[in-house]
Amino acid sequence: MKSSKINVQNEINALLIEDNLDDAHKFETMFNKVQQNSIFFHHVSSLTVAQDYIHVNFINLIILSISMPESKALEYINKIQIINSSLAIIILMEQDDRVFILKAMQQGVQDYLIKDEGDGYLVIRAIHHAMERKQIELQLTSMAYFDSLTGLANREYFHITFSRAIEQANRNKQSLSLLFLDLDHFKDVNDSFGHLIGDKLLIVIAERLRSCLRSIDFIARLGGDEFVILLDDIHTSLSVKKLVNKILISLSRAIIIETHEITISTSIGIVIYPDDALNTKDLLQYADIAMYKAKEKGRANFHMYTPELSTEIINKMNIKNDFRDAILRQELRLYYQPIINIPDNKIIAAEALLRWNHPTRGLLSANEFISIVEKSGFIIDIGEWVIAEAIKQTKKWQKNLLPKFGMAINLSATQLMNKGLMSFISAEIKQCSVKASTIKLEITESLLKKKNQQTRKILRNLSKQGFIISMDDFGTGYSSISYLKHFTIDILKIDHSFIHNYNSTPDTADFVKAIIDMAHALKLTVIAEGVEKEEQMTFLRKLNCDQIQGYLISDPVPALEFEQLFLNRNIQPPKALFLGGGGII
Ligand code: C2E
Ligand code: MG
Ligand code: MG
Repeated sequence: MKSSKINVQNEINALLIEDNLDDAHKFETMFNKVQQNSIFFHHVSSLTVAQDYIHVNFINLIILSISMPESKALEYINKIQIINSSLAIIILMEQDDRVFILKAMQQGVQDYLIKDEGDGYLVIRAIHHAMERKQIELQLTSMAYFDSLTGLANREYFHITFSRAIEQANRNKQSLSLLFLDLDHFKDVNDSFGHLIGDKLLIVIAERLRSCLRSIDFIARLGGDEFVILLDDIHTSLSVKKLVNKILISLSRAIIIETHEITISTSIGIVIYPDDALNTKDLLQYADIAMYKAKEKGRANFHMYTPELSTEIINKMNIKNDFRDAILRQELRLYYQPIINIPDNKIIAAEALLRWNHPTRGLLSANEFISIVEKSGFIIDIGEWVIAEAIKQTKKWQKNLLPKFGMAINLSATQLMNKGLMSFISAEIKQCSVKASTIKLEITESLLKKKNQQTRKILRNLSKQGFIISMDDFGTGYSSISYLKHFTIDILKIDHSFIHNYNSTPDTADFVKAIIDMAHALKLTVIAEGVEKEEQMTFLRKLNCDQIQGYLISDPVPALEFEQLFLNRNIQPPKALFLGGGGII
């Protein structure tokens, strides 16, 4: 019997499991009669001994003597495959039992031999045949179950393993964690370096992930840049978090591929069986949802699933889906909020604000859906609709209410960066004969964060055409004066958070005063947003703020209502020529 561990390719080490020593001896003698130098013979007397033997010796084929009842034999075959699934198996039978042989083959046995039939040559032939079949089977399985790029398990294999793991955890009353990973901005890597580099990056990522795990942990690539990891009971939620941090740190190291140094991160969603859900479908979906939340938190982050998260995300998904129909069903409306000139208390302009008359949820404000729409790609179409509609309305009001009536229109980053914006908006004002100088384009501070050359150019061009550029929500972002100098800005809108809190901390009042003074020094017009109380108005008036907007004057309202507001406030009844009976004309 050989015992040293041999690991030479093309060498076959066959292990006979036979408890009858006479039979084992007979078999070995028959085998030895044939001259061959690539097959080595080993023998053990039980499956238990075989288990240890396989661990220390390089065995690639088992010859299992079947001298037990059928069900026991099938169980043995199963156990061998659990010990090592790449072993070829031949069964050695007392007699030719075709029905059993068929069952055994279905269970993964490659060939069979009948005791006392045939000779050494037949044994050798069966061994070669079994090895070949096993090889082909292994290749087919690896094609079906492994990802050819990274060598990790693929989606199919993951689903099988996941179901089994759940069954096992259920039987053993254990828990199980599922981690769902999605690389951050992987598309950018593909777009800027090409798919070949993208593929190489995925291989490195797969290796790094693998090296963070124990050998018993299961990892698969679901496709694209999505990976999943299954961790069994030993991981408490604390150790899951530890592992997740290890992964985040491991991925944060720059990856060098050819001449490129690439930095990439991942977002991770975590669910726990049985706490969060009981079936694989829900668990996977919840892990995905938690992963999205991790992305929202700013990427390179993880998030543990909670039921509230589902409601939140499902709401968002519904909004995104319903929005498609909103356009077709014409459920979008523009509301207008008056802007007051502080010195004379008159309405001089309006801000157009988008509303969605949702069939079941009622009238939704922009902040309930605009950020979702922004990500969906509809924003350009919607934005154009808003621009066209608001400009038409401006024309009407310049004709009927006030010749220089101003209209503020909000633009998102995507809209501003869109190449067609300038020609679209210019065509619209031309068609309605509205002057560019009466249209105020509102952009937010975050848009200017990068001091991006392109943004600067776009704003300069719009400004050259005569449009007024207004910086919205000022104070919530970087609040840098350098932005104001750097970009062509005409109006500054102080965010409502400062107006609401102006008297809660002394600093806030000083800050508002400083903003107004600074803006005036730069010859900018200052508008205060979100004015709700008379005292806020008084405070702003004292600081020489130019204009205000807020619930104190009016909520955003439909066009007809706006006209009424305008008439009530701006067109006062002619003063009586004489008051009371003085007799003087
Ligand atoms: P924003 O441009 O800063 O608009 C002001 C928001 O404050 C509006 O919310 C308005 O209804 C609300 N508001 C007005 N007065 C008061 C007040 O006294 N107190 C408080 N607490 N809030 C007040 P809304 O309509 O939900 O819009 C939210 C944001 O959505 C807007 O902020 C704007 O950035 C964006 N948005 C609205 N309409 C459009 C649009 O047509 N296109 C684009 N791209 N964005 C839009
Ligand atoms: Mg605005
Ligand atoms: Mg604002």
